[in-house]
Amino acid sequence: MTRIVYVNGEYLPETEAKVSIFDRGFLMADGVYEVTSVLDGKLVDFEGHAVRLERSLSELDMASPVTKDELLAIHRELVAKNGIEEGMVYLQITRGAPGDRDFVFPDPAVTPSTIVLFTQNKPGLADSPAAKTGMKVISVDDIRWGRRDIKTVQLLYPSMGKMMAKKAGCDDAWMVEDGFVTEGTSNNAYIVKGNTIITRQLSNDILHGITRAAVLRFAKEAQMQVEERLFTIDEAKEADEAFVTSATTFVMPVVEIDGAAIGTGKPGSVAARLREIYLEESRKAAI
Ligand code: PMP
Repeated sequence: MTRIVYVNGEYLPETEAKVSIFDRGFLMADGVYEVTSVLDGKLVDFEGHAVRLERSLSELDMASPVTKDELLAIHRELVAKNGIEEGMVYLQITRGAPGDRDFVFPDPAVTPSTIVLFTQNKPGLADSPAAKTGMKVISVDDIRWGRRDIKTVQLLYPSMGKMMAKKAGCDDAWMVEDGFVTEGTSNNAYIVKGNTIITRQLSNDILHGITRAAVLRFAKEAQMQVEERLFTIDEAKEADEAFVTSATTFVMPVVEIDGAAIGTGKPGSVAARLREIYLEESRKAAI
């Protein structure tokens, strides 16, 4: 089955979809994105992703080419056209293709933004074997720009971080700035001490994860303690458990940091419980 994608108002087979070589997303990483997961053929936390998208766009003075209702309709149409039961919908909006390369932003009245959406089919996404074994992470310096709260398509350094992890025989990297963990290359980072879940507080230093918001809410509802504060790699190594969250990995245990086993070296019970609650509640609320 050929994948059907969405480009600037049209549903097309992926082989026929085109974006200009002058697109500022391509030339300058001048674009933002969202990834929404699909469970049981439905969108998980669409509202959260739509709200963050609006914020990313407004922080960059970029116009949205579609309304929130249109965006929901496009997401649903792509899920249906591609028969996605478990997987994700990727969405990207860039500042468009002005025709010449220029650092100055084009006039949005003349240059419309570019919008692209596509699906990725991932059967078994919720039943990932990695959730049972846990992930190994290394720490790397966080040398990204200072507006990580905006979900831009500048993903070169996170990609490099993943490659450094792979080279070290690990699964991912936790980034460290001024001695404190910021986040994973594509996820938010947590440690657990007793009944307390510790994760970095929100600021421009990290992406405000949609999964993070939901997981912290569920944790509080389940009477777990949540501390939003800075923590170091040394503190993480001494923790009982560690885990990460993101839209496509949900809650994923971390069992090793820089070669040191966390807790028992096996996925912990807090992470397992939060994953279970998150998946159950997300399936119920998916639209
Ligand atoms: N931090 C970074 C750097 C990310 O790339 C992501 C996922 N895109 C996250 C955190 C997790 O965000 P979410 O839960 O909204 O997927």
